[in-house]
Amino acid sequence: VTPGVRVGIGIDVHRLVPGRPCRLGGITIPSPVGPLGHSDGDALLHALCDAVLGAAGLDDLGSLFPNHEAANKDRPSTEFCVEVIARLRSRGLVVLSLDAVVETERPVLLPHRAALRARIAELFEVAPDAVNVKGKSGEGLDAIGRGEALRATAVALVGPRPETV
Ligand code: MG
Repeated sequence: VTPGVRVGIGIDVHRLVPGRPCRLGGITIPSPVGPLGHSDGDALLHALCDAVLGAAGLDDLGSLFPNHEAANKDRPSTEFCVEVIARLRSRGLVVLSLDAVVETERPVLLPHRAALRARIAELFEVAPDAVNVKGKSGEGLDAIGRGEALRATAVALVGPRPETV
């Protein structure tokens, strides 16, 4: 492994309810249900942010943006990404690659994979081919399988910013 390259993991779950916009990975997906949350409930961005923060040895998302603060109410999670990348940059670090699994019964993610990868690459300032997102159904086993919740798990590789001329 290249010196200074570090891995991080993040996980997040949100309840799915009717009438909420289905925000995932920084895009809005057509769906009869969306994630309940203090922010916009974007579990995929929350997991990705925590993976990046973890790899960089920084505080987690919940510490940086407490869900009891009014300022974070209904806040777009894309703003969390901007703040996370700024903190990373101030440490001389960049995101090298991201991978994620989204467990959900609905909506079906396959038609949105390319858009998710492109949007996440943009938000985390990484090449689109260094970002991946997979969807998994819940097999009807638990709250996720019954379509009542969505869980995202992410890993991030972070490393020193290349020397600039
Ligand atoms: Mg969350």
